[in-house]
Amino acid sequence: MGAGGGLRVRWGAREFEVRGGGDVGALKREIERETGVQPKRQKLLGLRAKGGGALSDATPVDELVLPKKILMMGSTEVAIAAVQEDAAKAAELEEERGFDLACEDPAMLAVAERPENQEKLERRLAAVQPTLLAEPRPGKKLLVLDIDYTLFDHVSSAERPLELRRPFLLEFLAAAYRAYDIIIWSATGMKWVELKMKELGVLGHPDFKLLCLLDSSAMVTVHDASYGIVNCKPLAFIWRHGVFGGHYGAHNTIMFDDLSRNFLMNPQNGLKIRPFKNAHRLRHTDRELEKLADYLEAIGELSDLSKLRHRRWERYLAKRNRAHREGDLPP
Ligand code: MG
Repeated sequence: MGAGGGLRVRWGAREFEVRGGGDVGALKREIERETGVQPKRQKLLGLRAKGGGALSDATPVDELVLPKKILMMGSTEVAIAAVQEDAAKAAELEEERGFDLACEDPAMLAVAERPENQEKLERRLAAVQPTLLAEPRPGKKLLVLDIDYTLFDHVSSAERPLELRRPFLLEFLAAAYRAYDIIIWSATGMKWVELKMKELGVLGHPDFKLLCLLDSSAMVTVHDASYGIVNCKPLAFIWRHGVFGGHYGAHNTIMFDDLSRNFLMNPQNGLKIRPFKNAHRLRHTDRELEKLADYLEAIGELSDLSKLRHRRWERYLAKRNRAHREGDLPP
């Protein structure tokens, strides 16, 4: 009992006195008036029923063994809402960062520079001899494309592979080919890559020629703090391999992949494409490649791609379209 005959209650750093008549439920409502914490949120520590019986809101306070001070734990609705809002904001931020983690975190740049990764790259350069399907064209940029979930839904089943081809694939490749040489790079094996490209109608097309096909043998395994041990596609393999004649570098290469971890060795050059999954549902609505063809065309004129933030490609396009409408740029 407090000096005034009431009960001392402590809540965080605050202490106050309540009257404490009636039952536990009434006590909680009194505490609510003092603190704003709803009875259902309150935990009252140190209360015991005389004789060790069960304690409920209906237990009269007279029948309690009371401590000198009741310790109350609980948060106000306002505080809970603030915490929830913070959590929601954190989740949003996480999602945004996760979407393009590889391009934002300066620590990841170090992956390419670590000696053990450099050594692995050297070994790939020495061991893997890519076959060119066409010659590099002077003045063209380079587009490197993943297959699974980027150009093709490799998980859904269909009678014909064409049903799983991403919409606008051939139109996209034909459009991109005007300013870019094109390499297909898949984490699977070469047999599979060739087969898929054939089935999708990408090999031997009259409007574009692929420069080269690459498979898992040119990839390197790296350790990364966020991703753990993963395989990635080091663009430096292309930039440095003699067969490509030094035509390509960080300034003129862009790579599309649905997994940003594949960009770990060259985060600045990667564009994380939305995965093409559930082909049967998305076949008539997915316009990712059609829009990305516009983006490639828009940036195709730039002499240096390395300053772009590909994560913002849609914003970049919208801005450019606005400028066209306002007559700042030729159509
Ligand atoms: Mg993929």
